[in-house]
Amino acid sequence: MIGLLVSDVDSTFLTQEVIELVAEHAGVRERVEEITTAAMRGELDFSQSLRARVALLEGLDESVLGSVREILEPTPGALELVRRAKQEGWVTALVSGGFHEVIDELAAEAGIDHVRANRFEIIDGRFTGKVLGPIVDGVAKREALEEFAELHGVPRERIVAMGDGANDREMLIAAGTGIAFRAKPALREVADVVLDGESLWDAWPHLEAAAGKVAPTR
Ligand SMILES: [Mg+2]
Repeated sequence: MIGLLVSDVDSTFLTQEVIELVAEHAGVRERVEEITTAAMRGELDFSQSLRARVALLEGLDESVLGSVREILEPTPGALELVRRAKQEGWVTALVSGGFHEVIDELAAEAGIDHVRANRFEIIDGRFTGKVLGPIVDGVAKREALEEFAELHGVPRERIVAMGDGANDREMLIAAGTGIAFRAKPALREVADVVLDGESLWDAWPHLEAAAGKVAPTR
């Protein structure tokens, strides 16, 4: 393979935030937004805020997931970027603080090779309000990137990571090329490339540049 492309999902690969879509369908969007705002003020870390938001979904019927999957909107250029990268031999991955149950189908349709995300605990067709297993936070995103690179033998120079939030800092730093897409200030300051246009396709020249880089001798 030529390289590894790793993308965040919420507000990067998708225009939306998955947990907020689920919350809207559950009728608790306003309460979820309050927690999101508190997290942005630094009162809660990512894991605490995710657990608090998922707790609000307790009792919700799992059929909501199908409704949410139908309204997912890939960011303009996202599917084209993945398609072109695949044609050129790149490995592609989504790493997300969002949820497998919502994004896996779209990822498979797009030809994405790997997805790392959270899972809702669902028992007898209803959300328990809990997240299964350890939370995919900023550290887990970086670890997923490193794991996929190792699996495919991709050197750091040819890893491109894209994201928009503070949660993507670690993986952008770990990548050879870190791309901040319409990003929060905390991410822009660690990015190699800052993109503020409408389309993720704007990332393509930076993949080509990364592919041209020579692997380090060990
Ligand atoms: Mg995001």
